[in-house]
Amino acid sequence: MRMPLIAGNWKMNGSLSLVEEFGRAFARASLPVNVEVALMLPFPYLVPAGRALGETAVTVGAQTLSDQPSGAFTGEVSGAMLRDCGARHVLVGHSERRSLFGEGDAAVLARVRAALGEGLTPLLCVGETLEEREAERTEAVVLGQLEAVFDALDAAERPRLVVAYEPVWAIGTGRTATPDQAQSVHAAIRGRLARYDEALADGMRLLYGGSMKADNAAELLAQPDIDGGLVGGASLKVDDFLAICQSA
Ligand code: PGA
Repeated sequence: MRMPLIAGNWKMNGSLSLVEEFGRAFARASLPVNVEVALMLPFPYLVPAGRALGETAVTVGAQTLSDQPSGAFTGEVSGAMLRDCGARHVLVGHSERRSLFGEGDAAVLARVRAALGEGLTPLLCVGETLEEREAERTEAVVLGQLEAVFDALDAAERPRLVVAYEPVWAIGTGRTATPDQAQSVHAAIRGRLARYDEALADGMRLLYGGSMKADNAAELLAQPDIDGGLVGGASLKVDDFLAICQSA
């Protein structure tokens, strides 16, 4: 019922030749038909990736967007531009945006609204730091980040999101949450969504992110409330990323 989504997040990595390599590899690969695959790319690669992956089922998305529609905001990129360049999705609230670029809950909400306004699917990222986990604040932090967005949206908007749980201590560290740790937070997220609406909770795709690799993906993806992955480092190697897609 919930179609798994494997989303690669290249962060500020990659090149045009890597885009071409992914295009060739995915054109040859046989992917399970019931899995959606997307790549969240740096802005300059959206158009070439759309071309290189055009014959495949892989869709492209961006890693952030402006909360403004257009105007004198040097260096910013709007949701309409992303759409124009073929993006279907956009990451919002990634922990690197929150911690390195000072995007708090209000900024995250404004970007979710900007994405929805342009018909993009926001992949809302939530997650606790190691300090917060050790202080037993995981659920409070994660559900707080979730509510900051979902409380402000209306019933028609909420189902248009995807949520990615990414424990900050697992991102890029090689330290993955255990399937039980991840499942328990995913279940808490789904439980909280059920307070808005049971159908919303049943239909919402909850991705896990944080050192997901070819050798741990199957176990994570087998958890009842894990509906896909947000894959950073392992999405830069086409064979690893394909293996993760195939284990979904
Ligand atoms: P990682 O990154 O897979 O390299 O841990 C995940 C992410 O930041 O989305």
